[in-house]
Amino acid sequence: MAHSNRDPTTSRHVAVIGAGAAGLVTARELRREGHSVVVLERGSQIGGVWTYTSQVEPDPLSLDPTRPVVHSSVYKSLRTNIPRECMGFTDFPFAARPHDGSRDPRRHPGHSEVLAYLRDFAKEFDVEEMIRFETEVVRAEPAADEENRGKWRVESRSSDGAADEIYDAVVVCNGHYTEPRHAHIAGIHSWPGKQIHSHNYRVPDPFKDQVLAQGSHHYTEACGLVKSLVSSLNSWMVFFLFPLQIVIVIGSSASGVDISRDIAKVAKEVHVSSKSTSPDTYEMLPGYDNLWLHPVIETARKDGSVVFQNGKTVYADTIMHCTGYKYYFPFLDTKGEVTVDDNRVEPLYKHVFPPALAPGLSFIGLPWQITPFPMFELQSKWVAAVLSGRVSLPSQGEMMEDTKAFYNKLEASGIPKRYTHLMPDDSQFEYDNWLADQCDYPRIEKWREEMFYIGFKRIYAQSATYRDNWDDDHLIVEAYDDFVKFMSSYPELLPLLKT
Ligand code: FAD
Repeated sequence: MAHSNRDPTTSRHVAVIGAGAAGLVTARELRREGHSVVVLERGSQIGGVWTYTSQVEPDPLSLDPTRPVVHSSVYKSLRTNIPRECMGFTDFPFAARPHDGSRDPRRHPGHSEVLAYLRDFAKEFDVEEMIRFETEVVRAEPAADEENRGKWRVESRSSDGAADEIYDAVVVCNGHYTEPRHAHIAGIHSWPGKQIHSHNYRVPDPFKDQVLAQGSHHYTEACGLVKSLVSSLNSWMVFFLFPLQIVIVIGSSASGVDISRDIAKVAKEVHVSSKSTSPDTYEMLPGYDNLWLHPVIETARKDGSVVFQNGKTVYADTIMHCTGYKYYFPFLDTKGEVTVDDNRVEPLYKHVFPPALAPGLSFIGLPWQITPFPMFELQSKWVAAVLSGRVSLPSQGEMMEDTKAFYNKLEASGIPKRYTHLMPDDSQFEYDNWLADQCDYPRIEKWREEMFYIGFKRIYAQSATYRDNWDDDHLIVEAYDDFVKFMSSYPELLPLLKT
């Protein structure tokens, strides 16, 4: 562990951008370490992505950079894909509250339960008093004037007007599930159907019915009979007789799986295009008679057809892009020290500090395919301790060397740049434990690690049922045994945990 001899009580004035899970725990850790903290949050409440709204952006693909941004990408039916016991912060258990009828006690609860948990967390640690709501950071940059050299200038906008402030440090917690990535499809510009990104998906209802008048090509190759029957009926009858929507969902990760199943309940057909299946795949997914798995799309044509790599052609109404998101920091001006290229935020020492601007600038929450909340907690403990001087960083040159070595290792292993912040297999827990060691904090519990792996495998083995059928009860018992040790600080939870 890298400890410094500097006065451990150094207090910094720190701006935290965003009051999602990352911003909340960062604010708590910074204050615990003795810093003065201002959290700038453009929304009107805490919770970030977990603040579900039925509102969507006017541009269904979210391509227009001037569009009004809706932050949350959560859809109505969303339940967590990580079991709650391992999802929570390490010292504030995400325990079920079965005696509280307003709460969702399920192991994989709906999104509103996660928001309720984050509200409990914010209340318990008085985080809200540090937050300025409806305040958008429009610019954050190293201060240029001599007097403030080494500090950060943060410009923000709120209903009170514009503010221009100086901070010792800025911690970026703005999330990375708002700016969509899209699939590149040959011929898509002449394809006449609708396209939407999952960022703007909320409920399946719009996929229920399609009147004939809205498109005469809306049938698959296999549906020639239906087509001739349909064409002999008037569109009023068609509306009531046939749910004609045919939807292609691109992407078979968490959102693609959920959303395709959501839509399959109401649409005529759903065709999932996956890049992680073999080129000749063509199968009906178990438990459905209208949900198909295909490989990638080869081309889209102006007659409304879409051709998959397996040679199958589908005439579709809508293409839903469940193709993930981009890192996006429109407010950040680092004079070229930090860039985003092919979804790598670079250069960053251990995914957190840009060597040339450390420790004044840091990022919490960039890694993905992880258990986010505990990692946010450990990253922010590290940032807080570095800012106070209790823990020191290697020199700028050493951090740069380490970072380059990491990038070289990815390249040598054939891992594409866009997967720089992906943490597969054991790497997230190795990383978590490295962070914990830096801060003299206990390492990740074994049960949490095991639960994550088992849970992850369960998603693939039983994608339709993994949230309600499991066989790791022994780990739940271990988790709750562990939770009890935090209950002295949360006595009101204790009786609930014992049920
Ligand atoms: P966010 O929650 O996105 O918060 C960022 C905050 O920054 C927002 O409040 C935003 O308003 C604010 N902000 C942004 N820009 C500015 C600005 N310029 N000025 C001021 N404020 C700004 N994680 C799990 O652990 N379990 C799950 O089951 C799970 N499921 C998920 C499902 C979906 C569909 C998605 C999209 C994500 C899911 N996640 C899940 C991951 C989730 O993103 C993280 O758990 C976590 O909540 C991210 O927190 P964050 O604080 O990094 O970002």
